[in-house]
Amino acid sequence: MVSKKIIDRQIPDLPKKIEFCDRCVVSNQRPRIYWSKDGICGACKFSDIKNHEIDWKEREEMLIALCDEHRRNDGRYDMIIPISGGKDSARVAYELKYKYGMHPLTITWAPFEYTPVGYKNFRNFIKVGAFNNLMAWPNGRVHRKLSRIAFEALGDAWQPFAYGQVSYAFHIARAFDIKLVFFGENGEAEYSGDPRVYNLRGMPFEMWSEQYFKGITLNDLIEYGLKETDYFTEDDYDESDLILYGPPDIKKMKDQGIEFHWFSFYRKWIPQENYYLAAEHTGFEANPEGRSEGTYSKYASLDDQTDGFHFYMAFIKFGIGRCTSDASHEVRDGHITREEGVSLVKRYDGEFPKRWFKEFLNYTEITEEEFWRIVDKFRSSKIWKKEDGIWKLRKAVYDEGDYSIDEVTPAYISSLPKSYYKYSKNNY
Ligand SMILES: [Zn+2]
Repeated sequence: MVSKKIIDRQIPDLPKKIEFCDRCVVSNQRPRIYWSKDGICGACKFSDIKNHEIDWKEREEMLIALCDEHRRNDGRYDMIIPISGGKDSARVAYELKYKYGMHPLTITWAPFEYTPVGYKNFRNFIKVGAFNNLMAWPNGRVHRKLSRIAFEALGDAWQPFAYGQVSYAFHIARAFDIKLVFFGENGEAEYSGDPRVYNLRGMPFEMWSEQYFKGITLNDLIEYGLKETDYFTEDDYDESDLILYGPPDIKKMKDQGIEFHWFSFYRKWIPQENYYLAAEHTGFEANPEGRSEGTYSKYASLDDQTDGFHFYMAFIKFGIGRCTSDASHEVRDGHITREEGVSLVKRYDGEFPKRWFKEFLNYTEITEEEFWRIVDKFRSSKIWKKEDGIWKLRKAVYDEGDYSIDEVTPAYISSLPKSYYKYSKNNY
């Protein structure tokens, strides 16, 4: 049984007419996206600010002052850094510990199921990078059922992971009396989100639910599970199973002086540079299996077997797949041109993540037929049309112009800086 009900509150708010950014390859269908009158997305506008307006020397001085204020030289931890073992959090932790002399406790909210390369990178981070780490594994049965509910209700099984990824850090900050919590990048600024938070040093606690959780709380998911499904009942969980999915009491956090910071506020955020740094200092390795399905990149979001389905469902819901996100960022960072980005999107966006499909079905305990019924329930007639029995995007960034990949691929490869290959065993 698959419920027909959808509770993603972001879908109805999206613009009726699909447009693509003139500078990168993202469309205006991304939730919370800012769109300028001249057809430029918020992340491209922010990249102008990042590249031309922000004084990064001054920002680094702010970081040094903050560290000086909070550094503890008495054997206690002085900051929490949530890490996955991926390149981005590795860079944050490495710089804060070794460049700015802090004593971080890194923490990890476990993925649903590690990939071999994800687990290896996590272990390398601890061993090669030399960090202390606490890892939380939520109740496996509850977590699995919540992810299935989230897949059915929101079209994104990742949601229960998102809750803990943010909240767990603050429970540990409370427990160890630590005031600073450092996350990596401000996703709203880097990926075209809400401009109200572009220039903040961290996310205000009051905006968590709206910004991170699609406006959907854990209680919404549980209610959906109880009312709309036949596989979730009150016997399936205890209130204590849910503690780490939600933040601690906001007032208590404020009274304790706990602060939320994004490292990207203080240091310029360039994912490719994070990769080089992590490869050099924390034993990070790109995916030995080659590029990730749905994109051309081989070093981003590798940890979890379910990652590909999070990106695939964004493609189904918004027409924005994993390659669109990667290429948009690299166009903004000047690593590839827009034409190359469009060609890559044409080639890879929306590719089905078959590598871990069986594991995903096992994890969420759904049949293949149920999986496709859930997928189709999230296709809107604005994004999709059916031609000769095949689903096609109604409007794609590569519709106009010739983006034949055979012509563009060599140019794309030759455009990459040589250093791109430095730590990569297999070339593209
Ligand atoms: Zn853009």
